[in-house]
Amino acid sequence: MNQSKDTSEHLLVVENLRKYYPVRGGFFRRKIGDVKAVDNISLELKRGETFGLVGESGCGKTTAGRTITRLFKPTEGKITFEGQDITNLRGSELRNIRKDIQMVFQDPYASLNPKMMVGSIVTEPILNYKGGNESKYKEEVMTLLGRVGLPEDAYFKYPHEFSGGQRQRIGIARALALKPKLIVADEPVSALDVSVQSQVLNLLKELQEEFNLTLLFIAHDLSVVKHMSDRIGVMYLGNLVEIADADDIYANPKHPYTQALISAIPQPDPRNKSERVILSGDVPSPQNPPVGCPFHPRCPQVMPECSEIKPELKGVNGDHRVSCLLYEK
Ligand code: SF4
Repeated sequence: MNQSKDTSEHLLVVENLRKYYPVRGGFFRRKIGDVKAVDNISLELKRGETFGLVGESGCGKTTAGRTITRLFKPTEGKITFEGQDITNLRGSELRNIRKDIQMVFQDPYASLNPKMMVGSIVTEPILNYKGGNESKYKEEVMTLLGRVGLPEDAYFKYPHEFSGGQRQRIGIARALALKPKLIVADEPVSALDVSVQSQVLNLLKELQEEFNLTLLFIAHDLSVVKHMSDRIGVMYLGNLVEIADADDIYANPKHPYTQALISAIPQPDPRNKSERVILSGDVPSPQNPPVGCPFHPRCPQVMPECSEIKPELKGVNGDHRVSCLLYEK
């Protein structure tokens, strides 16, 4: 086991993480490039906090979440969980860590085995880790199903017998079964009706307190992230472009991309009119990202040097970090 940075405050530390996928072409299927899904991100999760990771679809946030949980193998960088370097763990060592790091997925139906009863679905991770048989854990699992708001008879039913919101509750119960320390929730409510989204978000908040969880909450919807998060990181084209406390990032966004995202959130009070920043063009391909600042082809505040120099994520005001050359001057 490699000891790393002190993690008394931080449950998880991610340093210079990259996840590239090789692109092959030609007759011999030689490697001709990389899709840079995650391109050098660093962040840390304090114990007990909710960190919201936000960005448009295709920005790399889902790949980042799955790489951090070690569902995907990192291309480069370092992931430290509770002081242990987990970047290259394999086999039983990786299995031990998985007990403490669980995921809640976007599509609760696709992530639940339709042929298994809910009781078996939720018990499965316990059996995988602790062994034994299902009946041994039946009472514990039934209590957990009740805690996530499912009816008593849910244990004996199949996923198709439940609504979308209830299926997500099953997914949450499964993630909680091993009493993890960190849950990575990847767009956990975006497949649900608006009317049930807040119920599931409130449940996650309650469970976080009760189970002493740290949450990495991934979403494309900034208003959902705001509701949930203590701190927020904004991703663009595989890069983290801004990290700050949730209130600070909404009140005082610094990166031009964050400013555009926040300007697009509808205001409940029509008297609070702020000008909407419309971005031109599409997000470039992560196979061929722009040289310099990855946002420069779309940035309303672009400067000549932005197409040459790639800015680093740097502190501008206490814990508020931004990667933009405007703040390096
Ligand atoms: Fe815009 Fe330049 Fe800042 Fe990039 S570095 S966000 S292009 S001003």
